[in-house]
Amino acid sequence: MTTGPTVLSLRGATKRFGGLVAVNDMDFDVTEHEVLGLIGPNGSGKSTTLNLISGALKPTEGTISLRGTPISHLSAADIARRGIARTFQLVRLLPSMTVLENVRAGAVFGHRRRWGAEADAHAMRMLALVGLDRRANAHVGELTYIDTKRVELARVLASEPKVLLLDEWLAGLNPTELEEGIALIKRLRDEGRTIILVEHVMDAIRSLCDRCVVMSTGTKIAEGTPEEVLSDPEVIRAYLGD
Ligand code: ADP
Ligand code: MG
Repeated sequence: MTTGPTVLSLRGATKRFGGLVAVNDMDFDVTEHEVLGLIGPNGSGKSTTLNLISGALKPTEGTISLRGTPISHLSAADIARRGIARTFQLVRLLPSMTVLENVRAGAVFGHRRRWGAEADAHAMRMLALVGLDRRANAHVGELTYIDTKRVELARVLASEPKVLLLDEWLAGLNPTELEEGIALIKRLRDEGRTIILVEHVMDAIRSLCDRCVVMSTGTKIAEGTPEEVLSDPEVIRAYLGD
């Protein structure tokens, strides 16, 4: 659960866009093998927080550390090389390339680099993990929506991240796909991966997260187990006010 070593920590992480404080003085730790839910109403700063962690955005103030080493001054590419990988709220794949080629890109450019046949074999293992190995040679443009999400996840996994950031990976799935998607993330959790899960689906939060950090208008308003935070009156108020 939450007793292992700290992998990632945010201290006073703040991001301003002009006068708007999108992320305000965020403090939290992520422990090894933990699934941390980052939840909150729309516009509360969840994606911006992931952007700060992945280096897509630089914090206006504060520090983000990976195993005690500050990383917030590094480029996004350097942070990815150190083992922080993310999926995007809107899937970003190369539609004219095959499923295998897209996943292989993760194996080639990621934290642990592989080349040639080794990269292919590794990409195939990741496709099997997400249940898509039989579509390896399909073009991404031919896939269903959930399958594009599986490809994106396999691509990110191919980089062997130390910390996996999932931004509403379950959004837009139908009820059957949602069940499959939750089962897939559960499998990653059971493998002992360290994950920050930005999510709106309450069933997913309850069944997948060890702990949750709740944001509202950029600020952390609660932290605890899913049961604790989802019954917190301030959290309920923040969601109802959305
Ligand atoms: P969430 O992911 O929780 O829905 P976001 O992190 O996307 O929220 O956004 C938090 C706030 O920051 C919102 O008010 C949003 O409009 C604003 N915001 C996000 N990205 C930018 C940006 N690049 N420029 C200006 N404002 C932004
Ligand atoms: Mg978002």
